[in-house]
Amino acid sequence: MERVLVTEGRTSFFAPVQDENAAFPPGSAPIFYNRRMEANRDATVLFCAAVRPSDYLDAMGATGVRGLRVANESGTPVTINDIDPGAAAEIRRNAGEGVEVTCGDANALMSTRRFDAVDLDPFGTPAPFVDAACRSARRYLCVTATDTAPLCGAHLKAGMRRYFARPMNTDYHSEVGLRILLGFVAREMVKYDRGIEPLFCFAREHFVRLHLRVRRGVRHADRTLGRIGYVMQCTNDIHREEAVGLIPPAAVCPGCGSSLRPIGPLWLGGVNDPDLIGQMAGLLPGMGFGTERYLSRLLPLLAEELPTSSYYDYHEVAKHLRASPPTMAVMLERLRAAGYGATRTHYAGTGVRTDAPADVVEAAVLGV
Ligand code: SAM
Repeated sequence: MERVLVTEGRTSFFAPVQDENAAFPPGSAPIFYNRRMEANRDATVLFCAAVRPSDYLDAMGATGVRGLRVANESGTPVTINDIDPGAAAEIRRNAGEGVEVTCGDANALMSTRRFDAVDLDPFGTPAPFVDAACRSARRYLCVTATDTAPLCGAHLKAGMRRYFARPMNTDYHSEVGLRILLGFVAREMVKYDRGIEPLFCFAREHFVRLHLRVRRGVRHADRTLGRIGYVMQCTNDIHREEAVGLIPPAAVCPGCGSSLRPIGPLWLGGVNDPDLIGQMAGLLPGMGFGTERYLSRLLPLLAEELPTSSYYDYHEVAKHLRASPPTMAVMLERLRAAGYGATRTHYAGTGVRTDAPADVVEAAVLGV
């Protein structure tokens, strides 16, 4: 295997040379490495630098880049695992002193050992690994999903099989995907009388990334269960409402009278901890990340996002109303002047989060 020295952040390691003619280069090499996931890894290194776990498992290492970076750039003791002996050998070559490397099935490892932080970064869906990760993680659980089509409703049946939830391909589908994954992790966790608190969660391009705090005890498990519910969406217009609980209620759209369709079960409420995000923003300039510009825009957006469970793509609303959309600043100002909270969202440049009802959103678009 031809290898090339790569540097991400303050870490250098060897990665396989990719076949430039392959349709999807990361899959063309015997050991996986995708430079486009650098933002995902930078985010986790920053997270670890802020929360300082006492140890960290990179359960699916491939080249080992993620765990090596966490060790090197946040000073955390790490274990890096991969089921593929070729990958484990590569990780050993890349790892310096003090990094434990194991070769085996992540589920077997996580069923027998506990780590302060556990990180799942599989191909596609993390669903088969979440149960064991919930048992293994003492304080922090990090999860990547790249199967955004099933999560967001584009591949409905695959989404239902993996996450036991019904997504819907709405204007806010990337947020639905993140919340369905979060709801799934919550349901896997509460059966062990433990709860989760989302600390730093976001979606980008083809992935969803969760960084969660794990809390022990029935009280935390019950509080987590209390965040599970549905977004009830009208299929005729933009009206939607939240319904907490495991059973979706029968509800009708106040505007057109048609039945609302439940999306979920999914996580309702906030998905970021503004204090921690602020702490991470403070550390960011000293980290030397390749994606510093992206993260320096993302973090303030996450910190300000209202904890509503969906957003309005107000350009789509304007198209529907056959009107031209105002600027984002004017849109936010109109909603606030009407007495509601309003913020931007990281999911979409034309997305607005607000607690205003649908008719107020439409009035704000029209300026009436
Ligand atoms: N974390 C890596 C990074 O940031 O570059 C990428 C990991 S890659 C997407 C997924 C890896 O999971 C592959 O190297 C594969 O060999 C490994 N894998 C697949 N099934 C596994 C299992 N059951 N247990 C442990 N590793 C597994």
